[in-house]
Amino acid sequence: METCYIFITGGVVSSLGKGIATSSIGVLLRARGYRVTAVKIDPYINVDAGTMRPYEHGEVFVTADGAETDLDIGTYERFLGIDLTRANNLTTGQVYQTVIDKERRGEYLSQTVQVIPHVTDEVKRRIREAGQLANAEIVLVEVGGTVGDIESLPFLEAIRQMRFDCRDRTLYLHVTLLPYLGTSEEYKTKPTQHSVATLRGVGIQPDGIILRSKSPVPDEARHKIALFTNVEARDVFNSYDADYVYAVPEILEQQGIGRFIERRLQLEKVTPELRGWQEAVRTLREPDDRVVIGIVGKYVAMPDAYLSLIEALRHAGIANRAEVRLEWINAEALVAGDLTRLHTLDGILVPGGFGIRGIEGKVLAARYAREQQVPFLGICLGMQVAVIEYARHQAGLEGANSTEFDPYTPYPVIDLMPEQLDTADLGGTMRLGNWPMQINPNTILAKVYGPAANQGLVYERHRHRYEVNPAFADALQVAGLIISGTTPGMRGRGAGLIEAIELSDHPFFLGVQSHPEFASRLMRPSPPFRSFIEAAVAYHRQHQPAADLRA
Ligand code: GLN
Repeated sequence: METCYIFITGGVVSSLGKGIATSSIGVLLRARGYRVTAVKIDPYINVDAGTMRPYEHGEVFVTADGAETDLDIGTYERFLGIDLTRANNLTTGQVYQTVIDKERRGEYLSQTVQVIPHVTDEVKRRIREAGQLANAEIVLVEVGGTVGDIESLPFLEAIRQMRFDCRDRTLYLHVTLLPYLGTSEEYKTKPTQHSVATLRGVGIQPDGIILRSKSPVPDEARHKIALFTNVEARDVFNSYDADYVYAVPEILEQQGIGRFIERRLQLEKVTPELRGWQEAVRTLREPDDRVVIGIVGKYVAMPDAYLSLIEALRHAGIANRAEVRLEWINAEALVAGDLTRLHTLDGILVPGGFGIRGIEGKVLAARYAREQQVPFLGICLGMQVAVIEYARHQAGLEGANSTEFDPYTPYPVIDLMPEQLDTADLGGTMRLGNWPMQINPNTILAKVYGPAANQGLVYERHRHRYEVNPAFADALQVAGLIISGTTPGMRGRGAGLIEAIELSDHPFFLGVQSHPEFASRLMRPSPPFRSFIEAAVAYHRQHQPAADLRA
């Protein structure tokens, strides 16, 4: 089959949930047996998302091949159940960088280099390449931002041209917001009409529309939009707010979006296989247990900064048939010494992070979890904090710290490794993407990964600069810390780096240097998260049934 392209644009406002709509369509196509991939176009000029603040832009997602991407790539991976690569996230910065490099190399000799055709050609080339690399039959292409933005114009022009190139193997879907006016008790269609008009102004007539709304939209509004936008009423779909994002594929399928795509792209009619997916959503809605997990972090007011982490906890909840309630705890607030907020938790998680803010609060949380025997999971920075805590209070290394936070600490238990110090460019020194971890037998970690490990070897994604300092490995181990995973060495460096730590006289205390949350999937939860929630359920049953009775 020749590759088909489905283009998803957005209108009226940003943050509409285009990523969820795109991913949900992907689920429905995968459930019909198609090989699907998804491309996110980010019209900003940054080359990648690595340098942006999570507080504004949400989390920086990391692919297996080490690209730092927009968080939508994570949503695609979780919904589609596949690994994407750096080819799946396209930014203005990348496109222009390539075009300008080519110009300097003389590849456009004697030509005037212009947005059309040079930039648009490069955009089209990248979209096609992403499809080829994934060997995809259907490529979903989401254009970030809102129609009408200056920055997205070259991309809209490129996807417009693709209909010309690929004819009936293309489909345009426009996602818009349908606001509800409480005073007149009606959904307003005008912003959608204007947004479609803007899209048509750049030469794209949408084939279908997805209306985002608070609750199901009456047929009347759908008909009105159809009339004003030259789209058939049956091709106007409604993605109303769902209790869980994972419920969206079903909402759209029930309205016939799958059938619509089959019709338009002239695909065979197939009944989608959605049973596993539906079962997972059912478990989300009807769990048997409930646990409260405290996330002790910095960006607690911006949950999108921890999107993959939240989803990994949710996936782990499904695997344990438990609802996972999250309690956001600002690490800085713990420093005053009041730890009462930790008392009602069934598990404590210290996530990844950069910078000194809140570090001492995280140390307090790790100590509390260790001493009170509360299940603990430390991710990346969270593991480093657990090591600092153990060094200070169990190994007698007073003042132990990471050189990231205290360059003059007497005990740099977390430090830059020599090969990293060689490079002045900080970006170049990050350990990014998949790295192998060798698991020591007879550890919690070995149980956690179980058959997921191949001869004790697993791969997880990384995004960090500092490492546990091997010079302190002996001192920490003599004091009782267990090193349960190390790097066997890859890409010529990194052999023997400490990847995971744990405690033996504790129900579940695990720290990993990687970010396993990036690889967690609805139906294939990340092993450390699954085991952490399992331990939290056991802890809850033992310690907090009284709280349940009150709730
Ligand atoms: N700041 C720490 C480092 O660079 C941890 C990074 C992280 O948690 N992703 O090593």
